[in-house]
Amino acid sequence: KTKDPLQYEFHQAVEEVVESLSDFLLKNPRYLHSKILERMVEPERIIQFRVPWADDQGNIHINRGYRIEMNSAIGPYKGGLRFHPTVNQSILKFLAFEQVLKNSLTSLPMGGGKGGSDFDPKNKSDSEVMRFCQSFMTELARHIGQYTDVPAGDIGVGGREIGYLFGQYKRLRNEFTGVLTGKGVEWGGSLIRPEATGYGTVYFAKEMLETIGESFENKVVAISGSGNVAQFAAEKVIELGGKVVTLSDSSGSIYDPDGIDRKKLDFIMELKNIHRGRIREYADKFGVSYLDKQRPWSIKCDIALPCATENEINGEEAKTLVENGCIAVAEGANMPSTMDAVHHFLNSKILFGPGKAANAGGVAVSGLEMTQNSMRLAWSREEVDNKLHSIMKNIHQMCVKYGTESNGFVNYVKGANIGGFVKVANSMMAQGLV
Ligand code: NDP
Repeated sequence: KTKDPLQYEFHQAVEEVVESLSDFLLKNPRYLHSKILERMVEPERIIQFRVPWADDQGNIHINRGYRIEMNSAIGPYKGGLRFHPTVNQSILKFLAFEQVLKNSLTSLPMGGGKGGSDFDPKNKSDSEVMRFCQSFMTELARHIGQYTDVPAGDIGVGGREIGYLFGQYKRLRNEFTGVLTGKGVEWGGSLIRPEATGYGTVYFAKEMLETIGESFENKVVAISGSGNVAQFAAEKVIELGGKVVTLSDSSGSIYDPDGIDRKKLDFIMELKNIHRGRIREYADKFGVSYLDKQRPWSIKCDIALPCATENEINGEEAKTLVENGCIAVAEGANMPSTMDAVHHFLNSKILFGPGKAANAGGVAVSGLEMTQNSMRLAWSREEVDNKLHSIMKNIHQMCVKYGTESNGFVNYVKGANIGGFVKVANSMMAQGLV
C-alpha cells in the first residue's frame, strides 16, 4: 500500500487472499520465512507502451497498452487482455494476481498474467478496431510467445479482436503458433472456448448445489452482464432447467419474470455479438421491465451469477440477495463482490463460489487450446466439454479439501485461495530465490 497507494482494486484482491491464507501460513511457517506472499504480489515484469492509431476520419488517438507478467512459476504467463476505458495498472494487477491462483487451481501448467488497454471498442467501426489491434500487437508481439506469455480475451476482447491481434502477430513473426487463445475454430481455436467461462461457472454452481441436495431445476436465476460469460452461463442454466430472469449491461438491467428461453437468448446473442446493441432493446422487444442504470440484485432469485465486472455487488446488495432467499452465488466475473459483500455471503452461510474458482473454466479451456495447438490436432466438442466439466469438479473438490471448516461449512474463498497458493508457492521455493 505504501508503494502503490492508489491501486485500490489490487489491494482489495490481495487483502482477500491474505485474510483467508493467514491461518494456513501460520501453520506452515516455511512460506512465511521464504516471503512467498511478498514475492507473489510483486509482478515479475510490467510492460507499458504507447498505442497510436488513426480513426476512420484520419484523427490520431493515443491509448495506453499494458501487459502484467505476474508469475511464471508453473508455466508461461497466461491471462486475458481487456479493452475498456477504466483499464489501469491497479485493475490489471488485481486481475493478474487472481489469475495466478486461478490458473494453478485448474491443475494445468499455466502461470499468470493480464493485459489490455484503456481503448474503448464501443462505437468504433471494425476497421478502427482492426487498426487499434494491429498497433497494440506491434509492440506486444516482442514480449509474448507460445512458451513465454499467451494472452486471451476478456472484457471488450472477443473473437473479432483476437482475430486482428493474431493476424498482426503472424505477420510480424512469420509463424503460426498458439500465441493467443480464443482463436476461431477454423484457425487453431478450440471448440467450447467461447462457452467455457459461462458453462464452467454453472458447472461449479451445480457442484456447490449438490452438496446441499439441490440443483438448477426450476430455480430462479439472476445473471448480470450480457457479454460472453453471461450469455453462455444463461445458456447452460436454461439447459439444466433453471429460469434466467435478468441480464444487464453498463446502462441497466432487464427483468423477465417468465424467464429468458432459448429463442429469447438467441435474440440477445445476435443483439450483442452482431449488432453490438444495448440490453434495453430486449425490454422493448419482449415488453418486459427495464431497470435503468440499475443492477439486477433487487430481483428475487434463488441463485445469482454475477457475470459483468468487478465490484458489481456491494454489501447492501448482498444483504438484499440473501434476504430475498438466494441460496447460492457463483462469480462468473472477476471480483464482482466487494469485500463487504463477500463477508455478508460467508457470514450468512450461503453457498458462495469466488471467481478464481467459479470462472476458471475459461482459462482451463484456453489451456486445452494450447495443448491442442502444440499437438497439432483438434478435439471434438464433447471431448472438450467433458474435460471442462471434470476440471470444474476437481476445482470444487480442491475448495472442499482446503475450505471445509470445523462445523462442516465450506468456505470456498478460503479453499480456492489455499488450493491455488500451495502449488505456486512450492514451485517458487523449488526454483530458488526468483
Ligand atoms: P464482455 O465484454 O463480453 O461482456 C462484459 C459485460 O459486462 C457487458 O454486458 C458489459 O456491458 C458489462 N460491463 C462491463 N463493464 C461494466 C461496468 N463497469 N458496469 C456494468 N457493466 C459492465 O466480457 P466477458 O463476458 O468476457 O467478461 C465479463 C467478466 O468475466 C469480467 O469480469 C471478466 O474479467 C470475467 N471473465 C471473463 C472470462 C472470459 O473467458 N471471457 C474468463 C474469466 C473471467 P457493456 O456492453 O455496457 O459494457
